[in-house]
Amino acid sequence: MHKLYSAADLQQAYLLSHLLRQAGIAHYISNENLQGGVGELPFTHTYPAIWLFDEADRVRARTIIEAFEQAATRQEDAWRCAACGEDSPGTFETCWKCGCGRD
Ligand SMILES: [Zn+2]
Repeated sequence: MHKLYSAADLQQAYLLSHLLRQAGIAHYISNENLQGGVGELPFTHTYPAIWLFDEADRVRARTIIEAFEQAATRQEDAWRCAACGEDSPGTFETCWKCGCGRD
């Protein structure tokens, strides 16, 4: 496993995971279940992280992350899913959580 990215929170990790999955990049999220551990564990150990199965995907994955980080600064484009109520970035055509379309 090759560490790709430390996310600020679990929602960010899931958003990124959604994009990587669309690109067909095999990956894994660690610390998915440790959000309640802040205060008990060293703080940085509780950040969710994304790991690559194949190091050869790194260049493509970095490109996706850079686009993702730029999109994250344009939060005014975000839209709310009518089905589950989660916010998705404006660059997403489907809900990152449940996969429903934007309309
Ligand atoms: Zn949804």
